[in-house]
Amino acid sequence: MSDKVLVTGGAGFIGSHLCERLLRSGHDVLCVDNYFTGTKRNITHLLNEPLFEVMRHDVTFPLYVEVGRIFNLACPASPVHYQFDPVQTTKTSVHGAINMLGLAKRVKARILQASTSEVYGDPEIHPQPESYWGRVNPVGIRSCYDEGKRCAETLFFDYYRQHQLDIKVIRIFNTYGPRMHPNDGRVVSNFIVQALRGEDITIYGDGTQTRSFCYVDDLVEGMLRMMETEKGFTGPINLGNPGEFTMLELAEKVLALVGSKSKLVHKPLPQDDPRQRQPDITLAKSKLEWAPKVNLDDGLRETVSYFRRTLGL
Ligand code: NAD
Ligand code: UDP
Ligand code: UDP
Repeated sequence: MSDKVLVTGGAGFIGSHLCERLLRSGHDVLCVDNYFTGTKRNITHLLNEPLFEVMRHDVTFPLYVEVGRIFNLACPASPVHYQFDPVQTTKTSVHGAINMLGLAKRVKARILQASTSEVYGDPEIHPQPESYWGRVNPVGIRSCYDEGKRCAETLFFDYYRQHQLDIKVIRIFNTYGPRMHPNDGRVVSNFIVQALRGEDITIYGDGTQTRSFCYVDDLVEGMLRMMETEKGFTGPINLGNPGEFTMLELAEKVLALVGSKSKLVHKPLPQDDPRQRQPDITLAKSKLEWAPKVNLDDGLRETVSYFRRTLGL
């Protein structure tokens, strides 16, 4: 990966870890972000790196730069953030993908799309393999994100078929770790912040719905491996940790780790909230020789100490 690497959404949670890893292994990194959900604080520690460059830019507008690799991460990722301005969310996914694909086509760059387990919707097949087409509501409150990401995958595969672009598509399952936004409404950040503040832990619905949580360092390793696979290996490929937990189990773990006496309270389950989610990572294991290494307790411990430090709790 000797060329200049563009990371869109580079000031976000996952993007900032990716920029850091790329710089640490000697790459020239261009971070592009409009700071909608990301923050300069996530990348402040990288600003003195000679090979790091930051550009404030919205990917729904054309971008003319010269790069050899593109990681396309720009898109709000938490339900609270992507539902704040749903039209902009679809524009970011779809217009953003078109612009980054147009850029990749012009400069003949390899391009990787950060897709999502949300393409499977509320799944009837469990765990979810890449061959499953999903069950997504096209007109619900999650659709701006789910359908936007599905359309971005379509665009990636049409640029591959029509223009022979060198594409890679990863489907990321719930990822957590330091630099998650404390107010993004995601379950891990919510539970940790609530436990640290001694506030009630908000369980949506009965709390028996499941998710599988991947620590950010594991995810970034998988992304880098996917980017370096041979041309023609496009994915889509699932990246996530198959360890599956109910939200009640997650709440108990967080309470124990924080040593908090917060009470659990139940709130209404949001519309179209998937019942269950677990990645089938057979393909990633065989093709990338990759599997997550960090278990949920260890990852949560790191994340708790991050929130303690940054929120002064
Ligand atoms: P995040 O919100 O922290 O990061 C997204 C970044 O994109 C932010 O820095 C934001 O400011 C930037 N951005 C948003 N719209 C933009 C635009 N129009 N132009 C330029 N920049 C823009 O979220 P994250 O968790 O780091 O997610 C990164 C990517 O991974 C997203 O594409 C998301 O869909 C995908 N993903 C994340 C998860 C997860 O669990 N964290 C799961 C599946 C997929
Ligand atoms: N684009 C860009 N940077 C580039 C080249 C293209 O942002 O370096 C955008 C451009 O705005 C265009 C889109 O990518 O609308 C798709 O480009 P493509 O060449 O596929 O199609 P076009 O619309 O130019 O025929
Ligand atoms: N959730 C919850 N309490 C919260 C936030 C979320 O019980 O304070 C639930 C939510 O309903 C969902 C799960 O946790 O079933 C994961 O939610 P998140 O927003 O983190 O991710 P996604 O639904 O996109 O997987």
